[in-house]
Amino acid sequence: MTPLAEQIAMRIRATGPMPLPEYMRICLLDGRHGYYATRDPFGRAGDFTTAPEIHQIFGELCGLALAQAWMDQGSPAPFTLAEPGPGRGTLMADMLRAIRLAPGMSEAAQVALIEASAHLRKVQAQRVPKATHLDSVEDLPAIPLFLMANEFIDALPIRQYQMGADGWHERLVGLSDVGTLAMGLGPVVPLGRKGRPGDIVEECPEGVAAIRSIASRIAAHGGAAIIVDYGGWNGYGDSFQALRDHAPEDPLANPGLADLTAHVDFAPLAAAALDAGAQVSRPIHQGDWLQLLGIEARANALTRAGDAGAAAALHRLTDPQEMGHLFKAIAIWPKGAPAVPGFTPLE
Ligand code: SAH
Repeated sequence: MTPLAEQIAMRIRATGPMPLPEYMRICLLDGRHGYYATRDPFGRAGDFTTAPEIHQIFGELCGLALAQAWMDQGSPAPFTLAEPGPGRGTLMADMLRAIRLAPGMSEAAQVALIEASAHLRKVQAQRVPKATHLDSVEDLPAIPLFLMANEFIDALPIRQYQMGADGWHERLVGLSDVGTLAMGLGPVVPLGRKGRPGDIVEECPEGVAAIRSIASRIAAHGGAAIIVDYGGWNGYGDSFQALRDHAPEDPLANPGLADLTAHVDFAPLAAAALDAGAQVSRPIHQGDWLQLLGIEARANALTRAGDAGAAAALHRLTDPQEMGHLFKAIAIWPKGAPAVPGFTPLE
């Protein structure tokens, strides 16, 4: 058993089975043994690779999309350039290089990184020295906000509910007869959703709250947000998963040693943005969005300039069999303002 598994088992013996958000938070963020608290999980040597870690082209195009949105809204100064869940800081560093093309934008930008892991904050401070770290999107200042999030929402804790014979039950982490961690069901809860026995549905309350907070700032002060993640629209079923050494495993098997994520359901995020008074886009495949932004021309130019990795990166980021379809993007902007490049309004 990992040190965290023993800690979690002790807690379950003392206070009973725990909801998934509590389990995920301990596994990912525990100050001593948590997954993000103790390591740099990105890249070939780590457990997974993210789009900005594949090639600079991803962050550059995200930066240019935000730069266009900033100019379309009259180049407000000062403004916050924010990224929740910045990982190694690579995406923000690439965006900062790209936005230098928009006159005055770098000077007007106050860079804010929202990060929970003390270890990753140090890594990010080296890559993006002029950034301020915040604990939550709630702490963002009341000025125009231009924000990019990649694989942030999928790291936030989810709740799961399962339909039994008598209604919905929350799925909880408990102990098996032999003392190992095992999934079980809590008492009946009034969920207000339809379902058949055995159905599993998921909610990401922190993700919805984060989008609501970002969208209400954008509605009130101007700005734009681009949210990229893997998942779908009106998702359904159990998508809770663990990844270690680039391979999937049982999410209860090695607490603290594996990354835990869930598919992002974009529909409730979009609903929260609309509800907060902002405009939201239809979801678009990552591959299609990057094509609309001109990734092909940029990759070809880089290849001609001697970049041996650009063609492979183009393929990985856009091909439907690679990241192109699994990953989706939505954008948020103020009602009445021009759409963020590559996006069309949802309604
Ligand atoms: N955007 C980066 C990293 C994605 S991994 C990339 O694309 O490479 C998820 C990131 O979110 C990590 O930096 C992790 O430490 C951070 N994170 C996870 N939970 C968080 C929370 N509740 N608040 C802020 N950051 C969080």
